[in-house]
Amino acid sequence: MPTATLTYKNNIGGNLSESSSKDFFEKYNPADKSELLGKFPKSNQKDLDNAVSIAKKAFEIWRYTPAPKRAEILYRAAEITKDQKEELSRILTKETGKPIVEARGEIQEVIDTYLFFAGEGRRIYGLTGQSELQNKSIITIRQPIGICGLISAWNFPAAVPSWKVAPALISGNVVILKPSKDAPMSGYMLIENLYKAGLPKGCASILFGTGEFGDLIVRHPDIKVISLTGSVEVGKMVYETCGRMLKKCALELGGKNAIIALEDANQDLLLEGVLWGAFGTTGQRCTSTSRLILQKSSWSNSFLEKFVNAAKKLTVGNGLNEKTQVGPLITSSHRDNVHDFVERTVKEGGKVLCGGKSLTGGEYDKGNFYEPTIVSNIKPNMELACKEVFGPVLAVIEVNDINEAVKVANNVEYGLSLSIYTKDINLAMKAGNEFESGIVYINAPTIGAECGGAAAFGGWKNTGNGTREGGVMALDTYTQYKTIYIDYSDRLQRAQID
Ligand code: NAD
Repeated sequence: MPTATLTYKNNIGGNLSESSSKDFFEKYNPADKSELLGKFPKSNQKDLDNAVSIAKKAFEIWRYTPAPKRAEILYRAAEITKDQKEELSRILTKETGKPIVEARGEIQEVIDTYLFFAGEGRRIYGLTGQSELQNKSIITIRQPIGICGLISAWNFPAAVPSWKVAPALISGNVVILKPSKDAPMSGYMLIENLYKAGLPKGCASILFGTGEFGDLIVRHPDIKVISLTGSVEVGKMVYETCGRMLKKCALELGGKNAIIALEDANQDLLLEGVLWGAFGTTGQRCTSTSRLILQKSSWSNSFLEKFVNAAKKLTVGNGLNEKTQVGPLITSSHRDNVHDFVERTVKEGGKVLCGGKSLTGGEYDKGNFYEPTIVSNIKPNMELACKEVFGPVLAVIEVNDINEAVKVANNVEYGLSLSIYTKDINLAMKAGNEFESGIVYINAPTIGAECGGAAAFGGWKNTGNGTREGGVMALDTYTQYKTIYIDYSDRLQRAQID
């Protein structure tokens, strides 16, 4: 835990140490900007070199620790996180503004992620194959790669680091985490708890800073894997650097997700789904529903009316209040960006059905609150239909039929999560096949990632570079294959010749 003065230190390999920069940035509560949550070091190249040299030594031990033993640490970390669930959830709500009920869900996701990847410690399967030759076997195994630089966004500052840290460690790698400067606390607690769970010194570090410091991590020659969650713009820069260095790189980037509502949809289910999809986490999820593609029908106008009324009734406020359904935006500049988006859309012809401005007066003046906003009259090529807002703003696009709906849904550079509401399973499956997205929901909103098993989190197109998190495919980022040929024929056998 931080000291009473709220001054945090770098955690380098399990030891707290001041940054040689002697410089700090401040983190405030987005629901109450007068509350300073902590001062975080601006880590620099020297801190990074230090963390790397400690990580290198730790890797030489950790890589040889049997994976089931590594798993025991993740199991213990899950237990510790469970014991601290309420405390960690409150920290998470304070640093992001998200409603406490959502924060509890996110901490549960950390627990589930640890448990899932601890289970993988008994597997980390490779392959055995058939040789073309007699008395010869082929096995392909997965091995760790080395130091992984993990760079995360602010919106899921506990879950997203756990999606990276758990598969990296269980595979035998060591990690250096850099959380977003807008939400650095949950990552700090996560690393602290791994050490409480028995992680050997040196295997994990956390350093703090802006994108400039993130770039130092990406460029460090001894950091062999980069996993970044963030915007498309930053993802492209990071990918370019990794490409030049031939460094393994996993990118989980933005989204412009949509729900298609067909005329036979269950309207009550749809209403609940769109409300949660669009305004949960104040629309600040990579999977937030930011477009409702509504088939024109006898009920589409009355549905919009009901939906607008329900959005107006959402309780916006400080996430620590159990009744809050929508929290603040992360920073005031982000709120300004969201508002500018709405203003530009109105100029383009969009019609604001509700919201469209900052909330003021009383407790609203303390934080970055914005009204849940629904904008209709949106055409598929307008900015609001195509670009990620990352706020509580839903675009309503009306279409004539399913073919037009799928075309509109795919008409964006992103490909994270698309959903369809219909009672016709044939139409749902056909749409699902046509969707250009890594995640498809049928009769559920675009949000939400389940952990493990068949569930894999990641997107198509500009949402990423094809890697996945949350499920077993995450191991592909953190392992490299080695194929071992065993020839027990006692003679030279020449493949493809003999
Ligand atoms: P961002 O791209 O501004 O920053 C993400 C992280 O990258 C931060 O830690 C930042 O400091 C770092 N960074 C910035 N420039 C860098 C550089 N040049 N080199 C290395 N690191 C750099 O994104 P954000 O505002 O923190 O988060 C919001 C974005 O993240 C949204 O686009 C959202 O959709 C996306 N996101 C995606 C997922 C996913 O899994 N697909 C999950 C959560 C958020």
